[in-house]
Amino acid sequence: MRQRIAVVGGGPAGLAFARVLHRHGHPVTVLERDRAPDARPPGGTLDLHEGLGQLAMDKAGLLAEFRALSRPEGQAMRVLDTDGTVLRDWRPGPDDRANPEIDRGQLRDLLRGPLDVRWGQGVAEVAPGGRDGVRVHFEDGRRETFDLVVGADGAWSRTRPAVSSVTPHYTGVTAIETSLDDVDTRHRELARLVGDGSLAVYGVNRAIVAQRGSGGHVKVHAQFRAPLDWHRHLDLADAGAVRSILLALFDGWTAPVLDLLRHGTAFVHRPLYVLPVSHTWTHVPGVTLLGDAAHLMPPLGAGANLALLEGAELAESLAAGPADPDRAVRAFEERMWARAGRWARITAAGLERLVSPDPAAALAVFDQVQPSR
Ligand SMILES: Cc1cc2nc3c(=O)[nH]c(=O)nc-3n(C[C@H](O)[C@H](O)[C@H](O)COP(=O)(O)OP(=O)(O)OC[C@H]3O[C@@H](n4cnc5c(N)ncnc54)[C@H](O)[C@@H]3O)c2cc1C
Repeated sequence: MRQRIAVVGGGPAGLAFARVLHRHGHPVTVLERDRAPDARPPGGTLDLHEGLGQLAMDKAGLLAEFRALSRPEGQAMRVLDTDGTVLRDWRPGPDDRANPEIDRGQLRDLLRGPLDVRWGQGVAEVAPGGRDGVRVHFEDGRRETFDLVVGADGAWSRTRPAVSSVTPHYTGVTAIETSLDDVDTRHRELARLVGDGSLAVYGVNRAIVAQRGSGGHVKVHAQFRAPLDWHRHLDLADAGAVRSILLALFDGWTAPVLDLLRHGTAFVHRPLYVLPVSHTWTHVPGVTLLGDAAHLMPPLGAGANLALLEGAELAESLAAGPADPDRAVRAFEERMWARAGRWARITAAGLERLVSPDPAAALAVFDQVQPSR
């Protein structure tokens, strides 16, 4: 394979793609906007499903390392009523490895391994159809040409406009993320409440979800239905003001759950955007998309898994040295669209029920948004 291949974005999709190509001995240029691996906090924890993310790690030759780092106990799930009644308290069996959790930062470092990521290379535009190949325009004004450009640059992809005019739309559900550190020593009650894995509490059009990462770190998401500009009279940078608004929004909920918000250190606003379910495009030679760039969906445990597997699968089919690489990309897109479409429908319906006027509907979702089924 003599193709000049670039992947835009060093998230789960881009790194899985690059790592599998690298494993098969093929060069690939990874263009990442972040200035360095630690330029921003890596984020929370991800569960990798047996038939999706774990399969991708296997294709990358990293399954054993993943297993050594991941936390099977993190699969535990507790669901409470807003008054604190425990509705479900599920713990994995000793050999249950269906969806172990791993910190995002650990996953990124694992995938990155020997790859020569080009940091600080923000892509502004991708222009296919040139005589010499696909032109990549960088944010600093430089240009470079490749035979294949893979857009793995997430929700607000700069590669996407080369193949599709669709942009993400707001779901009507927003989230405020906060976190607690060192919970096992500093917040023992909350550590017990969250347990080894996740805690979810569902009210009317509101939810609080807390997830334990490694090292006693807990991420908390307060989700609620609101217009996009709900914060127009609020300074989102003022942690005290955001905390007060959240405590008012979740007024009446059991005190220990509200303590997760009271003790949160910083607050980040994350409105939930999605691409249309079944987003497809007319194939454009020399450009394709992976992961959130192709099919942004509600964060219900599928996005990173799909991103990883797509990256690994596209890399494998290119590494096999097809006579017509563009045909291989086209076949890959068909497979990706079918699978992602199924998950987009499941997660869209899931979000409707998880943050809904009927909290009882939320419980049923756990049986549906289950891995590897
Ligand atoms: C709160 C939350 C919890 C989630 N939990 C889960 C979970 O448990 N399980 C799961 O499967 N999924 C989960 N998801 C979804 C998951 O995070 C995403 O689906 C996944 O990260 C998508 O991977 P990606 O590589 O496509 O994009 P991203 O992870 O967004 O990575 C894109 C990369 O591209 C870079 N980039 C962006 N623009 C440019 C540019 N112009 N030029 C160069 N580089 C660029 C970015 O810096 C980034 O490194 C969650 C999402 C959220 C918000």
